[in-house]
Amino acid sequence: MKITRKSFFKGIALGTVSLPFLIRAFGGKNYAQEDSTGAPNVLTAKQYRWKMVTTWPPNFPIIGEACNKYAELVEKMSGGRIRIRVYGGNELVPALEAFDTVRTGGAEIGSGAAYYWAGKAPAAQFFASVPFGMNAQQLNAWIIGGGGLQLWEELYRDFNLVPMAGGNTGVQMGGWFNREINSIEDLKGLKMRIPGLGGKVLEKAGGSPVLLAGGEIYTGLERGILDATEWLGPYHDTLMGFQDIAKYYYTPGWHEPGTMLEYFVNKETYDKLPPDLQAILQTAAAWSNLWTLSQMEAKNAEALTTLLEKGVTIRRFPKELINQLRQYTNEVITGIIDNDPFSRRVYESYDSFRNKAANYSLITEKEFYDKIQKNSELDLG
Ligand code: CA
Repeated sequence: MKITRKSFFKGIALGTVSLPFLIRAFGGKNYAQEDSTGAPNVLTAKQYRWKMVTTWPPNFPIIGEACNKYAELVEKMSGGRIRIRVYGGNELVPALEAFDTVRTGGAEIGSGAAYYWAGKAPAAQFFASVPFGMNAQQLNAWIIGGGGLQLWEELYRDFNLVPMAGGNTGVQMGGWFNREINSIEDLKGLKMRIPGLGGKVLEKAGGSPVLLAGGEIYTGLERGILDATEWLGPYHDTLMGFQDIAKYYYTPGWHEPGTMLEYFVNKETYDKLPPDLQAILQTAAAWSNLWTLSQMEAKNAEALTTLLEKGVTIRRFPKELINQLRQYTNEVITGIIDNDPFSRRVYESYDSFRNKAANYSLITEKEFYDKIQKNSELDLG
C-alpha cells in the first residue's frame, strides 16, 4: 500500500482514518511532513537520516560546498528518503578521524582525500594524488575506465567502507615562495608548507616540510616560520591572501597533479540499502566529481586573470630541478611499494595506465594546448 502525502491529508480531512491509527501504522513517526525539496514523501518507504563527516573546514569553497550539494542532491533524488546532515572537519569529530568514524558506524558517510589515510593504508594515496602522477582526466580514466576503482574498493573493503570518486582539484600550482627557485640548491633549508609525499620529496632535496593548518599559513609566511607554501590553485590561494605576502608564484604543482576527492560510505550500511538508493549515492558522487573539477577550472581561470591584472608574475620551476624532484619521487615511491604488497599491486596498475595515458595525452591534449590553443601572452620564463 502506498500512501502519498495528498491521500494522507485527505484521510484526515474526511475523518476516514484516525490519527492514532496512522501513528501506529507508520511506527509512531510523522512522515507527513514535506521535505525541503517540496516533494511529497512516500510514506511506506524507510527513511534514512545520515551524518556526513568531512575533512574540510565547514563550507570550504568548492570542496565543502560540493558536500552540501551532494546531500541536497541525494535528498532530492530519493524524494527525501535519505537526508544527510553535513559536518565540517572538527564539528562532530576531528577532521582526520572521518575515515575511522564512518568505518565504525559513528557516521554513515564521509568526505576526504584518500592520501589522508596513508598511515592506515599506504596504497590509499594512489587514489588521491602522488607527485608526478596522473592529472584529473587521466586519474578519472584509470579509476572509472582502467580498473582503478576495483582496486580502491578492494582496499577499502577491509576497512568496511565503499569508496566513490567525488571531485578533483585539477593540476595544482607549485606554490608561493619568498625567494627565487633557480636550482635544487635553492630548496636546501627551505621551510615550506607542503604535506604528504611532496613533503617527503622536499626533505630528500634538503628542504624542511612544515605542517601548518590552513588558518596558520599566512601568519607563518609573514613571520618567517615559512619561506614558501603550496595550497591549491589561483582561486583558493587568492582567498588566502598569499599574493600579498609572498613574492613568487611558481608552476606547476608537481607534487599534486590532480588530487581526487572522495566520498566513503559505511559498507554494512551501504549493503543494506535498496539498489535504487545505492544508485542515487553513486550518481550524486559522479555529479560531484564533475561539478568540483568544473568549478575549480572555472574559478581558477577567473582568479588567474585577476592575479595577472594585479601584476603577479608566474614563474616556472627549472627543468633540471623538476627532473631531480622526479628522481627523488621515484625513490620515495619505491620505499612505499617495497614495504607494502598491496601498494605494489596498485602502483603497478597505476603506473602502467599512466604510461599509456601519457603517450595518448602527448599526441592529443599536449598538441592541442601547444599548437591549437597556445596563448603567447602567457609565455613564462
Ligand atoms: Ca595542495
